[in-house]
Amino acid sequence: MKQFKAESKRLLELMIHSIYTHREIFLRELLSNSSDAIDKLYYRTLQDGDTGLNRDDFYIRITPDKEARTLTIEDNGCGMTKDELENNLGVIAKSGSLNFKQQMEQKDDVEIIGQFGVGFYSAFMVSDCVTVYSRAYGSEDAWRWQSKGVEGYTVEPCEKEGHGTKIVLELKPTTEEENVDEFLEQYRIRSIVKKYSDYIRYPIHMEVEKHRQKEGAENETETYREDETLNSMVPLWRKNKNEITKEEYEQFYRDKFYDYEAPLRIIHTSAEGTATYNALLFIPAKAPYDYYTKEFEKGLQLYSNGVMIMEKCADLLPDYFSFVRGLVDSQDLSLNISREMLQHDRQLKLIESRLEKKIKSELEAMLNNSREDYEKFFASFGLQLKYGVYSDYGQHKDLLQDLLLFYSSSEKKPVTLKEYVGRMKEDQKDIYFISGESVARIEQLPQTELLREKGLEMLYLTDQVDEFALRILNAYDGHEFKNVSSDDLGLETEEEKKAAEQQKEEYKELLEFLQNALDGKVKSVIVSQRLKSHPVCLSSEGAISLEMEKVLNAMPNAERVQAQRVLELNPTHPVFAVLQKLHETNQDKLKEYAQLLYTQALLIEGISIEDPVAFSNQVCSLMSE
Ligand code: ADP
Repeated sequence: MKQFKAESKRLLELMIHSIYTHREIFLRELLSNSSDAIDKLYYRTLQDGDTGLNRDDFYIRITPDKEARTLTIEDNGCGMTKDELENNLGVIAKSGSLNFKQQMEQKDDVEIIGQFGVGFYSAFMVSDCVTVYSRAYGSEDAWRWQSKGVEGYTVEPCEKEGHGTKIVLELKPTTEEENVDEFLEQYRIRSIVKKYSDYIRYPIHMEVEKHRQKEGAENETETYREDETLNSMVPLWRKNKNEITKEEYEQFYRDKFYDYEAPLRIIHTSAEGTATYNALLFIPAKAPYDYYTKEFEKGLQLYSNGVMIMEKCADLLPDYFSFVRGLVDSQDLSLNISREMLQHDRQLKLIESRLEKKIKSELEAMLNNSREDYEKFFASFGLQLKYGVYSDYGQHKDLLQDLLLFYSSSEKKPVTLKEYVGRMKEDQKDIYFISGESVARIEQLPQTELLREKGLEMLYLTDQVDEFALRILNAYDGHEFKNVSSDDLGLETEEEKKAAEQQKEEYKELLEFLQNALDGKVKSVIVSQRLKSHPVCLSSEGAISLEMEKVLNAMPNAERVQAQRVLELNPTHPVFAVLQKLHETNQDKLKEYAQLLYTQALLIEGISIEDPVAFSNQVCSLMSE
């Protein structure tokens, strides 16, 4: 018995004792080794030209044997000499496996098994004894390599017809925790092959049991055996676009990404040169139920030359496009690449930035050419784009700003910033917005009266992130964003300004009295320039608006912030005259009215009031006067 090299021994132990969450990938590993071995021989054939071997001669075969409890994987690839058997299977030659081993030891995280090309040793995840029969192409001798695990291995001469490699796995016993027998079931094998190795370029055969109606006997069936090719061999994404129907794309999308709705858009693209890849991406119609939760994991499937190496490669998608589903197949990536290595992979970065551009231009095309689709898309994923503007200190705002939609007060539908600016009045400098819970609620806000009167378009912001996103954008096309309910809009004419100054002087005492009555609750009480028919409203001064206050305070563990509140009164409203009168005749009552007006302003803003019972009592006592 020969000993494994120390490194191999350790990896082997890890395999044997690993928890079997991803053990099904042993099949992927062995199949991809077989595929590589055929590649090598096929390549040699192409070079030599006269080997007499054709591409069609190559195959891989899987044979489950339930009685013997063995699973055999066989190929007619290049095979291995005695030395090669010892060198390839007795040591970890490849840096990929080595890297994996180090990861395992550092993290003790078995979850990562599935992310790696762990290679031949993964066979020990499911079997006690592995026997490899191999005959190198062009050699007369065949060799048998066998190992029952960490103790070591033996190599002996054996008989084997033809070149290639045959690996026989004696499966571990099935226990209560681990069902190993499932790997002998044809449906299971079929589904693993479909999942990981569908696109291996050589046929993977398996003899399967089938049933058919017995000839002559109507209600009787008979069982027969037939060879089945388990893999489709040609991946959809490598086919020519014009050979693929819409239905095929959609079926593929549904099967692979478990969505029952057809995608809104399909992006099928490839590149050659500095980065060579095929990519097939989908923009879903609806957000998955967990999309806006922490559980959601973004990422594209990653294939290396037709073999899936990662289920969700996060590095291929920026966060703001995390809704995209799909896959990337690149021959530039090694099967043995680890997550950590991927992060630093320059090829991958290049692919990511190309895909980002593709996705963006697809979205733009949708926005420009099929507005209805885009609005549907935006209803599902617009929020993510707005987060994208806001996150990373606004780094991506230029990329994303033209993809945003906001509800327009004049158009009564979502519009882009560009469209808004295109419609601006000649002397209009700023872009106006106002926040609220819903379009219907905002429509009723007294603060909108002035702009409505002047015929100015407003953007209604109904998502919490909206105002934050606009603050980060700061301006669009040179036009600043102005909050209708708090910023100084500068819309008054010189005369109006003068009149306002006069009013301020005129009502100075009354306003001061009211402010004192609302001690601490508002920063000031003013006569409003925005109100036209409503008696009262609340606005704010400074960087934090009332809407932002709500959002910020709703965050868990947030420090409480408060907008600087301003109570605005409409001097043309009959109530104002009442206030004036009370100021002279009944100051106690005026104090009460100050509270009432303030509470009403809060209610209009959708801010919860501190003492609803007191408010109710006040109103009732008024009613019974
Ligand atoms: P990797 O595939 O990453 O190189 P493995 O542990 O899976 O690592 O395999 C080690 C080596 O064994 C391979 O590089 C290859 O040279 C050889 N090998 C494995 N399986 C086969 C096979 N079916 N036919 C020929 N050679 C093989």
